[in-house]
Amino acid sequence: MFQALPPTRFDLRFSIGDIPVRVHPLFWLIALLLGSSASLWMLPLWILVVFVSVLVHELGHALAFRFYGIRSEIVLHAMGGLTIPEAAPWGYGWARVSPGPKQEIVISLAGPFAGFTFAVLMMLVTLLAGGTLITSRLFGILPLPLTAVLPFGGDALNVFVTMLLFVNVFWGIFNLLPVFPLDGGHVTRNLLIQYDPWDGARKAQWVSVIAGGVIALFALLVMRSVYVALLFGILAFQSYQSLQRRY
Ligand SMILES: [Zn+2]
Repeated sequence: MFQALPPTRFDLRFSIGDIPVRVHPLFWLIALLLGSSASLWMLPLWILVVFVSVLVHELGHALAFRFYGIRSEIVLHAMGGLTIPEAAPWGYGWARVSPGPKQEIVISLAGPFAGFTFAVLMMLVTLLAGGTLITSRLFGILPLPLTAVLPFGGDALNVFVTMLLFVNVFWGIFNLLPVFPLDGGHVTRNLLIQYDPWDGARKAQWVSVIAGGVIALFALLVMRSVYVALLFGILAFQSYQSLQRRY
């Protein structure tokens, strides 16, 4: 579900600096479906917000790979994005360069923190432009200054900046949850592997099963979101299945 989809002739391709980016057509479709409850005039803004936010997140990963001398490619697909390290010639074939556990942690964290940094910059721009930020509750609990009110630009600009703030912070926190295949799952695994090289990977799968289950319950009872509950229920179950298969 989180794997890169194979290229199609409808893929949008471009590059940022020397980092190639590929956008699968399903990315636009899923963004459209997620925004389908918004009013019609907001829909193009919403799709642009999702596109920019996922791209900023993946650029974080790509720049961290670059920091360790590894080239990578960004793919935006149905369920978000992926940054794939480039395969390098190795012996008679090709191999992916794999960073060590500490490097993997930095690369995984770089995605969510790129989004947080972007959100903070947008907040600063809002304040410097003479606007105000109103505190809203993210996930129904977390009070954060995410609603922007600017003195110019009207509703469209306010909605655009507010959606950018929400999506960048939401996407970062969501990805930090210690559940596979999210970034937080990889951070947990690499942390546990350092302390327990023999059994760390298995323990991280158990963390993923338990955290996924707890978050599914939280989503159902507190956030009252069947969609989020279902998503984390499925991720917890997938982690449980891979425990059964591998250990
Ligand atoms: Zn990520």
